Amino acid sequence: MTDIDLYTRLIQEITSHQATLVAVSKTKSEEEILRLYEQGQRDFGENYVQELVAKQSQLPQDIQWHFIGHLQRNKVKMIAPFVHLIHSVDRIKLLNEINKEGRKLSRRIDVLMQIYIGTEATKFGMDETDVYAFCETWEQQKDEFQHVRIRGIMGMATLTDDKEQIKKEFEQFVQIFEVLRTRFFLDQASFDTKSFGMSGDYQLALEAGSTMLRIGSMLFGARS
Ligand SMILES: *Cc1c(COP(=O)(O)O)cnc(C)c1O
Repeated sequence: MTDIDLYTRLIQEITSHQATLVAVSKTKSEEEILRLYEQGQRDFGENYVQELVAKQSQLPQDIQWHFIGHLQRNKVKMIAPFVHLIHSVDRIKLLNEINKEGRKLSRRIDVLMQIYIGTEATKFGMDETDVYAFCETWEQQKDEFQHVRIRGIMGMATLTDDKEQIKKEFEQFVQIFEVLRTRFFLDQASFDTKSFGMSGDYQLALEAGSTMLRIGSMLFGARS
């Protein structure tokens, strides 16, 4: 169960850095989500489409749902009507699909490009070369992508106790963000989101300039 004092301290710390807290509620009950909702929390993150859809239908409609897990193209339509921000776009085909569903619904869906910064071989996301190629394709077909808006990038650092390494990875992440902004998004003020930092490294992330923290276990306790 969430410790409300801890939540209050965390939200103050994050807000004082002008960043947003996404409470990662995967595997957690609706009751646990509502406890934080009652404290004013509105941004929640989920990793699994089915779980997100079920929770969204049961919980208050003003919750802003973030999708942070690996997303398959055939599941985009299930979350497209309501999702607030998709953090995990890692290929053009997926962007195409989100755009297509957005068009059907006459809405524009906000997304982040997931970037691979850690050293763990299992992680999803694009490396630096991939993300430049991704943006070049997007730029060439920009007129067709009216129903998606790229807001920034998302990443995860290597799971390690080595603070220097995490710091280096976050700095590299911010550098990639700046290069992308300068090369592709100078005329788009809404390219403003750097989603990095989780329970174990959120302080380092705030120091490095994260604008969006995704925090689960620290808030809700360990997942079973
Ligand atoms: C689970 C998850 C988080 C939250 O991780 P914690 O260590 O529990 O804070 C953040 N981002 C992604 C992509 C996740 O899958």
